[in-house]
Amino acid sequence: MKNDQNNLMEKIVSLCKRRGFIFPGSEIYGGLAGTWDYGPLGVELKNNIKKAFWESMVYRRDDVVGLDAAIMMHPKTWEASGHVQAFTDPLIECKICHERLRADQTEEIKNHENSHVGQKTSWTEPKKFNLLVEARLGVVEDERTKIYLRGEITQGVHVNFKNIIDSGRVKIPFGVAQIGKAFRNEITPGNFTFRSREFEQMELQFYVKPEEKESKKWFDYWKEERMNWYVDLGMDKKKLRFREHEPDERAHYAKDAWDIEYQSPFGWREFIGIHHRGDWDLSQHQKHSGVDMTYFDSETEERYLPWIIETSAGVDRAMLFFLIDAYHEEKNPSSAKASAGKRIVLKLHPRLAPYKAAVFPLLANKTELVKLARKIYDDLRKEMMVAFDDRGNIGKRYYSQDEIGTPFCITIDFESLEKNDVTVRDRDTMKQERVKIENLVEYLKQKIF
Ligand code: ATP
Repeated sequence: MKNDQNNLMEKIVSLCKRRGFIFPGSEIYGGLAGTWDYGPLGVELKNNIKKAFWESMVYRRDDVVGLDAAIMMHPKTWEASGHVQAFTDPLIECKICHERLRADQTEEIKNHENSHVGQKTSWTEPKKFNLLVEARLGVVEDERTKIYLRGEITQGVHVNFKNIIDSGRVKIPFGVAQIGKAFRNEITPGNFTFRSREFEQMELQFYVKPEEKESKKWFDYWKEERMNWYVDLGMDKKKLRFREHEPDERAHYAKDAWDIEYQSPFGWREFIGIHHRGDWDLSQHQKHSGVDMTYFDSETEERYLPWIIETSAGVDRAMLFFLIDAYHEEKNPSSAKASAGKRIVLKLHPRLAPYKAAVFPLLANKTELVKLARKIYDDLRKEMMVAFDDRGNIGKRYYSQDEIGTPFCITIDFESLEKNDVTVRDRDTMKQERVKIENLVEYLKQKIF
């Protein structure tokens, strides 16, 4: 079982590299641990995840607005938020080989101990290791200010709380959605993109009246919403679960904290946190900046510091889990050689798939077929991301598109020239249907979006 799961990860890593989803960062220089580059297909999948998040939060709701704050923030931000003091992981060092691990990662520790065959490993006492990544800002060498690249995107929202209420028409309860990069000097990056040192987060900070009942209501609401969002985008519900944080495991700011976990090949792993942050952030920024962060409720004439319910998800982790979840190997009924009897198919939700459709002229050397196929391709491209392929036989082209999750393949054959229709083949059912060219855009849009 474990081997199968290791195999699955290897297959996914290899598919990602081979087909241009994800490359190791700085590869030609031997790589830079904990960094990854998203290739031509990876950037599409990642953008589609972010777009789906943004649409569901900012476009479809009238109680959430968007924000895009700077990655570099005044260093006092991180003192106020508690990160300078408490954003730490327990670090231990192997006394034999000096490799450093996280003291709370029991599986990694066990594997490491097993690697020293016959020699009993001993470890240094855990010491707190701060995860903030430092940078230097300014032009004069010795006057440069030490800053931190943001360790979470959250604080960019809270420092703008006043700006948002003063410049818009938002009223509590309301939320602010944000997507952006965060940086952590992780002790043990690994499991492909799961734990990286540079990654992206998509978050909602939702401000509510500081009352137990009210905040509990919203906490429960957002927990369910987040879970449903992944299920609606096709993730297998059986592989998702909620997990409540133990009190000693909660972040320094959290009154209540739950994760949504995915059953990955390397175990159940968190990819979203839902946190009740109380008024931690606003009260801390108020204290450290001296700026009044209170909210005035004009209906009840009350002034208060709102409480915050946050949902914080990793874009890269979500993408990795969407890929793992979508990966299927099936018997291939067609005898195309490339498939050796099986087809690999990424059953990504059509909204997430990099290409929405691929257009094939049946034969590459028949000018009329290629001309019509090109015309259809050009028309479709105005509406969605589409591939064009005229290499090899149709079976090979299906194989190639299945592997990257393209939900529809459109073949232009001789009948198309006479009847103005095309064959549309569905990735998952492999069924084919004739569709009139004039109806093609609508047909695809209905099935995809
Ligand atoms: P972990 O315990 O796995 O280190 P965390 O509890 O520190 O994660 P949060 O601070 O709650 O994570 O961050 C919210 C989300 O950001 C996580 O659920 C995850 O999806 C993402 N995330 C956090 N750290 C990383 C990382 N190093 N690489 C990729 N994604 C990350």
